[in-house]
Amino acid sequence: MFVLLIVAVMLVFGMFLQNRISVFYHNSFKQTMALSFSTELLGQLESASKSDKSLDELKQVLGAYVGRLGISSDRNYYILDGKTGKVLAGSDNVTVLEKSENILSAMAGKVGDRVSPRLPYIDYAVSTGGGYIIYIKDKKAEMLEIMRTIYLIVGQALLIGIFISVVLGFFLSRTITRPISNLTKKAESVARGRFDTRIDIKAKDEIGKLASTFNYMTSMIKTSMEEIASEKNKLETMFRYMTDGVIAFDINQRVIHINPAAKEMLGIENEKSVKFDSFFKQLDVDISMAQMIYIGQKTTFERRIDIGDRYLKAYFAALETDEEKLNGAIVILQDITEEQRLEMSRREFVANVSHELRTPLTTIKSYSETLMDVAEDEKNKKFLDVIIREVDRMTRIVKDLLTLSSLDNQKLVTNFTTFSLDELLRDITTKMSIDAKNHGHTLSYFPSTAIPEIYADRDRIEQVVTNILSNAVKYTPDGGIIEVYAGYLYNEAYIKIKDNGIGINTKDLPRIFDRFYRVDKARSRERGGTGLGLAIAKNLIELHGGTISIDSKYGKGTEVLIKLPLGTKKAESPPETESKG
Ligand code: ADP
Repeated sequence: MFVLLIVAVMLVFGMFLQNRISVFYHNSFKQTMALSFSTELLGQLESASKSDKSLDELKQVLGAYVGRLGISSDRNYYILDGKTGKVLAGSDNVTVLEKSENILSAMAGKVGDRVSPRLPYIDYAVSTGGGYIIYIKDKKAEMLEIMRTIYLIVGQALLIGIFISVVLGFFLSRTITRPISNLTKKAESVARGRFDTRIDIKAKDEIGKLASTFNYMTSMIKTSMEEIASEKNKLETMFRYMTDGVIAFDINQRVIHINPAAKEMLGIENEKSVKFDSFFKQLDVDISMAQMIYIGQKTTFERRIDIGDRYLKAYFAALETDEEKLNGAIVILQDITEEQRLEMSRREFVANVSHELRTPLTTIKSYSETLMDVAEDEKNKKFLDVIIREVDRMTRIVKDLLTLSSLDNQKLVTNFTTFSLDELLRDITTKMSIDAKNHGHTLSYFPSTAIPEIYADRDRIEQVVTNILSNAVKYTPDGGIIEVYAGYLYNEAYIKIKDNGIGINTKDLPRIFDRFYRVDKARSRERGGTGLGLAIAKNLIELHGGTISIDSKYGKGTEVLIKLPLGTKKAESPPETESKG
C-alpha cells in the first residue's frame, strides 16, 4: 500500500513537473521570439530583403542578432524562400525542412508563432515582406535535458521512498498484525472450549479495546456455559432419579434422551436400536411419529402399554422448537401396575361380597314377606314395609354390582339378535309412560324417518334406555317434558333422551359415568338410585361398539346421546365376551 502510494505520488509529481517545464519552456521561447523580432529588427530585415544582395544582407542582420535569438547548435535560424518555403541559407547545413504550420502561416503573410507541444521541436516563422521568411527552429534539447535530470531525481526519490516505505511498512504491519494474529489464536482456543484464555492488553488503542472486549466476551461465555451446564446437570439428575420414565425422540424417530426408569420399564438395553414407529408398533401401541407431528400439535396422546406383567400409562406429546416448529416427540411413562392390581382386587372383592350377599338378601326378603302376610299390627307392617324396600334397594345394588363385575371380567352373557330399534323404543316409552304420568311428566317419542334394524343385545339396550329414561323421570321436577328421539346417520343409529329437569353442574359432568358417582346423594337415594346406572350404561354401550355422551345445563335440563353401530363386522359376529360367558 505504501509503495503504491509513493509510486502514485511520484508519478503525479513527475507528470505535473514535466507539464510545467514544457509550458514554461514554450512560453519563454515565444517571449524571446516576440521580443527579438521587434519592429526594429523587422524593419532592418525588410530593408535588407529589398536590397540587391538581399540574402547576404539578411544573413548579416541576423548574424548581429544571434546572441539575442539564442542561436546555438540546438537552435538555428534559416532564411526561406517566401513563396516556396525552400531553404536558401541557415546557421547550420540543413537544406530541407519540414513545412510546419508556422512556415505555412508566414508564407501566408502572418507571424507563425504557434507552439504545439506534440511536435519534437518549437519553431517561429516571420515574413520579411521582401519575399523571404526568417525561420527559427529549436530542437527542445535544453528542455529535454532538464526533463531527463528531473526524471532522474524523481526516480531516485522514488527508490528511496519505496525503500523507506517498505521498512516502515514492515515495522508498522508487525505492530498491527501481531496483536491481531494473537487475538485470532486466542479466539480459536475459546472456540475449542478453553474459556480461561485471556489476552494481555498492551495498548489503549483500537486493538487494545478489541482485546478487552474479547476478554469480557470470554468471561460472559464462560458464565453462561457454566449456568447451562449446571441446569443440564440438574435436569439430568432429576431425570435419572425420576420414577416416571422419560424418552425424547428426534424427528428422525431416534432416541435423543432416555432415563433409567424408562429403560427399565420398557426393557431397553440399547436405545440406539430403537425407532419410534417400529418400537411402539411392536408394543401394540397405536401411535406414529407422523400422527404426532401432523395431528398432535399441542395435543397429548394417552395410551396404555401392557408389557409382560406390567401395566404402563404413556403420554405422548410433540417436541417444539422456539419457532414453534415440531422437531420430535416426548414420551412420559407411568407404571400403573400397582394401581391396576389394587383396582382388580377391589373389583374382585366387590364381586365376591355382592355374590355372597345375594342369598341372605333373598332369605331376608322372603321371610319379611311371610311376616308381612301374617302381621296384623299396623306398626309392625310399617316396619316390615321399610325392611322390604331397603332389601329391594340392596338387591338392586348387588345386581348392578354383579353386572359391572361381569362386564369388567368380560363374562357377561349377551344375546345378539337383529331387531327393530323403533319397536323397542315404542315398548320402553309405553312402559315408562305410567311412571312418567305419576309425576305429571309428558313423555313423547319422535322417531325420524324409518330406522333400520340393529344387531345388538335387545335386553341390554332396553336396560340402558330404561335407566336413562328413569333418570330423566327421577331428576325432573313433576310436570316436566321428556322427549325421546331416534334416527340414523351414515352407519350409526342414535337415541337421544332429553328432559327439562334439574340438570347437572359442568364440574360434575366429567365424573358422571364413574361408579357410585351421584351429584345429589340424598335425592338419588330417595328415588331409589344406586349411582351405578350410568356406569353400567356406558359399559354396555361400549360393549356394543357404540358411544354414550351426556350434555347438561344446570337448572335447564339434560340430554343423553347414545350412538350404536348398525351392522359393523364386530357386531355381526357375536363378541368375544359371549363365548367366554
Ligand atoms: P343413580 O342411580 O343415582 O341415578 P346414575 O348412574 O344413573 O345413578 O346417575 C348418576 C348421577 O347422575 C345421578 O345421581 C344424578 O345426580 C345424575 N343424573 C343422571 N341423569 C340425570 C338427569 N337426567 N338429570 C339430572 N341429573 C342426572
